[in-house]
Amino acid sequence: HFQVMMLLLMLMLSVVSLAHNFCYDEEHCDPYAWGDNYPSCHPLLESHHSPINLDHQLMKNQSLDSLHLEGFNLTLKGQWWLTNQGHSVVLELGNGMQVSGGGLPGTYRTIQLHFHWGSVSSNGSEHTLDHLRFPMEMHIVNIKSTHPNLTSALEDPTGLAVKSKSFHFLVGQTKSIRPFPLMNLLPQNNLTQYYRYHGSLTTPPCSQVVLWTVYEVPTYISWAQLFVKRIYSTEELADKQVHLQNNYRHIHPTYGRPVYASKDAKMLTNGVSPLAIFYLFNVLLFIGFLNI
Ligand SMILES: [Zn+2]
Repeated sequence: HFQVMMLLLMLMLSVVSLAHNFCYDEEHCDPYAWGDNYPSCHPLLESHHSPINLDHQLMKNQSLDSLHLEGFNLTLKGQWWLTNQGHSVVLELGNGMQVSGGGLPGTYRTIQLHFHWGSVSSNGSEHTLDHLRFPMEMHIVNIKSTHPNLTSALEDPTGLAVKSKSFHFLVGQTKSIRPFPLMNLLPQNNLTQYYRYHGSLTTPPCSQVVLWTVYEVPTYISWAQLFVKRIYSTEELADKQVHLQNNYRHIHPTYGRPVYASKDAKMLTNGVSPLAIFYLFNVLLFIGFLNI
């Protein structure tokens, strides 16, 4: 029995340490150190890591037409769950949404979305557009139903969800959300303008299995500023509560990877500057689809 107990304890400890061996703000576990624990996060030459800077070296691809977003206009039944996983806030989406078309090799199930952000005073999108970093980036994760094993690559080991009514959103806490049409968060008039490239997860294990779709035109969400202020990277019983901020990975070289622009993409260079006016009132949201 003792041995079983020890084994269980060791297993539990290893799960806990897994949950805490990557971070964004301390040198020993920040994105430049992820490779120490996750060899696949080492940005070796010729590797296909994300995020990248998107610039005018994009190649137009006429076969990249509009993505078919099924269920995105609907208010689905049931509940969604919003969880603070310590390094991001993840909204687990129920069944009912899928993505196809737009040059994707098959149909992908939409499983979750999460955010990367800076702080109240700095931008924190992961991809940059002509080296311009946006305040926030939303990732909608879609997986091919023929590869169910890959979900485990995305699941966070900090699985302990504690329901809480408190104002602060701490690690491990979960809130239920009434489903809403996901389309409300997308650039509805510019859905055919996007960029496409082959890259990786931007969090450990950094698997190079992602077909990225990054919308060219950002959208904005007025509640984001408030949202950022409420998220903490610490647990309920911690002595001092610390904001979760700047949870983005640094830019990686493309190493000659083709980065395509969709048929209708305008290939904006610094033409995004008029949008800077929005910064005063709203937070721009840069959106990427991860198809795995
Ligand atoms: Zn992400």
